[in-house]
Amino acid sequence: MPKKYDPYQNMCDIMDEAASFLGYAKRDYEPLKHPERELVVAIPVEMDDGTLEVFQGYRIQHSSVRGPCKGGIRFHQDVDLNEMRALAGWMSLKSAVVNIPYGGAKGGVTVDPSKLSRNELRRLTRRYTAMISPIIGPERDIPAPDVNTNAEIMGWLMDTYSMLKGYTIPGVVTGKPVQIGGSLGRQEATGRGVMLTVVDYVNYAKIEPATCPIIVQGAGNVGLTAALLLKEKGFPIVGLSDVTGGVYNPAGLDMERAEKHIKGGNMIDTAILHGGTKRVTNEELLELDCELLIPAALENQIHEGNAGKIKATVIVEGANGPTTKAADQILQDRKIVVVPDILANAGGVVVSYFEWIQNLDHLSWELERVNQMLADIMHKAFIDVISQMNQRNVTMRMAAYLVAMERLVEATKLRGIFP
Ligand code: GLU
Repeated sequence: MPKKYDPYQNMCDIMDEAASFLGYAKRDYEPLKHPERELVVAIPVEMDDGTLEVFQGYRIQHSSVRGPCKGGIRFHQDVDLNEMRALAGWMSLKSAVVNIPYGGAKGGVTVDPSKLSRNELRRLTRRYTAMISPIIGPERDIPAPDVNTNAEIMGWLMDTYSMLKGYTIPGVVTGKPVQIGGSLGRQEATGRGVMLTVVDYVNYAKIEPATCPIIVQGAGNVGLTAALLLKEKGFPIVGLSDVTGGVYNPAGLDMERAEKHIKGGNMIDTAILHGGTKRVTNEELLELDCELLIPAALENQIHEGNAGKIKATVIVEGANGPTTKAADQILQDRKIVVVPDILANAGGVVVSYFEWIQNLDHLSWELERVNQMLADIMHKAFIDVISQMNQRNVTMRMAAYLVAMERLVEATKLRGIFP
């Protein structure tokens, strides 16, 4: 992958293309190419050995035209300003595709959390929260989990914000532990949304689950949940990976064994090998035989170097931005369908929306209700995207951008420009 690949510029380029399909003038959508507000913070943390480290953190608010800003917080060594901008912009588009009343935001800290102790991680989270607290809040900007952050960290964030304000404010963050205002179903929501999108797509394309072997890159919250739910729906899962590499078995992986191993806190290793399963690298995994590929790890995994070698006929993007622009073109030329991230992985933010409603109304909904409402919203969004695709004869990614841009531009026009 070329090092200088710029996901934010890539998103702006697709917006330009979408705008020309929609006949928009520059002034109609120009604001969408500029994040509304960007906050960069320097976070001092006392380490366990008594030394002091200063970490760089961000909170980018891309758009609030359709509602409060919304989006996750990522702790990763590769976090930088441009990546944050792209991730924030994708959140605005994603919330618009599924038509929930949110804008888009993203936050993060440049840190490898595996190198921190639990106490260091807690101090980092609390100080970061305090430093972004002037711009977040239940009516303003609502964080959530993302790569390397989880319910426990969201609990610390909620507590820190609440302590600063003097009372408990659960609606400031979603993806919290259920005991302190988290929603049932939120943890599995992104993976469940990926599964629902795959099911919608195979129904649309008239593909039988049993004849649709799937490879999933990433065995984190999104990838593992999606793989397990898809297995339940009758799809053979033939490949799965984490940061250490993957496993592949054309006859299907033993997912029960894999689930036990991974949920036991272990990385994928030889312990989950069984008859015919082989160990592969993450790069190899993407190029192996399958019908449907789900990149559910990080950005820029499918690039011009490997897009020509992918065997899958359909790619469903569980991660944000896993496909570069150059790769997209190669895949399109090769007639490989890409079901885009801003549709396929929107399940997380949809159930975040449910969590926020429950918090604001002091309610707690049954799991069945959450899952049914998630399925309804995901299905409606799928239909909206498919009809744009067929109506305008564009890729599914372009169709999703068209759906989102129409909603964002309409809201901008209705609100007008202040002052
Ligand atoms: N981090 C998730 C995403 O990229 C969820 C965001 C949210 O729930 O606000 O979609």
